[in-house]
Amino acid sequence: EPKSALDPDEEKKLTGDMRELYDRLLPSPESEARRLQFVKKLDKILHTEWPGNDFTVLIFGSSGNLLCTNDSDVDICIQTPMKSLETMHPLAEALHKHGMEDVHCVPGAKVPIVKMWDPELSLAVDMNVNNTLALENTRMIKTYVQIDERVRPLAMIIKHWTKQRILNDAGIGGTLSSYTWICMILNFLQTRDPPILPALHQMPHKNYIAQDGSESGFADDLEVLSGFGSKNTETIGELLFAFFRRYGYEIDYAEYVVSVRHGRLLSRKEKSWEITSKEGQWRLCVEEPFNTTRNLGNSADSTAFRGIHLEIRNAFQLISEAKLGKCCELYTFPP
Ligand code: ATP
Ligand code: MG
Repeated sequence: EPKSALDPDEEKKLTGDMRELYDRLLPSPESEARRLQFVKKLDKILHTEWPGNDFTVLIFGSSGNLLCTNDSDVDICIQTPMKSLETMHPLAEALHKHGMEDVHCVPGAKVPIVKMWDPELSLAVDMNVNNTLALENTRMIKTYVQIDERVRPLAMIIKHWTKQRILNDAGIGGTLSSYTWICMILNFLQTRDPPILPALHQMPHKNYIAQDGSESGFADDLEVLSGFGSKNTETIGELLFAFFRRYGYEIDYAEYVVSVRHGRLLSRKEKSWEITSKEGQWRLCVEEPFNTTRNLGNSADSTAFRGIHLEIRNAFQLISEAKLGKCCELYTFPP
């Protein structure tokens, strides 16, 4: 039986260690400035290469949702009526010409992107053209982060743990993206008793019809929303412990789907995501909050998820002894 609560002194130590780690993870003003500088630079490159065209350079992902660290990549969306750029190849060529390194297209991705390294600003960049869908989920995450002050430290520390343990690169396969982990964290906070976060899509809001025609609006008035979680007095140490306990031991993955949109667990049956094969029962199911037919857990197959689940249990063990440093140790391949 997993331990059900931390001892008071362990809780105190863990919360203190988390505060310290959080301060180290927060991006420096200098790193924030480099991100903005990149936007300016890209804007200039675009107008030099294709004068007379309209471009808007927008930042999304962790650089826009308050969850980035100094070494996070920058996610950029270029909005332009210039359709020919959507194939990405002319863009990749131009960026290479202007000094970007390791420029390569990722055609297999759901949305075509160009990845690169800017040696001048020391930044890794992911770029897409006219894929505005991710801008909305970035805004959603940012809104959730601003509702309660525990969300940011908790989410940044869990993200840090996923990186140290190499559990967060949907690109290399067998793991989950940062976005998926964030949805798991948000749903965990929505389902505390009392809840720390609401379900923004379920609250009164202005309708917003996305590019694909679906209704994507959500409540975003922080004056109304902030303080929502104040009846819950759990500390970040208690929450980290409870997070690993929940995903390590409590959720029945064969029965349930994590849904941020609904702010609760949905049964597989009500989503019609019933298990069709024996291997399916070990898959993590996380509903994409905007495009609800998509399962964000898909990037990890059953074998991979079993590995992730073991990592979560291992983390739970260490956190239940207040060993944050050990829990977030860098995974190194056996020599
Ligand atoms: P990190 O700090 O690790 O870069 P991130 O939040 O930027 O974290 P990424 O994996 O770089 O995460 O993804 C960037 C953004 O792209 C996400 O914040 C999200 O807005 C969007 N995104 C990523 N994966 C998906 C997906 N499967 N479906 C929809 N949007 C996604
Ligand atoms: Mg990113």
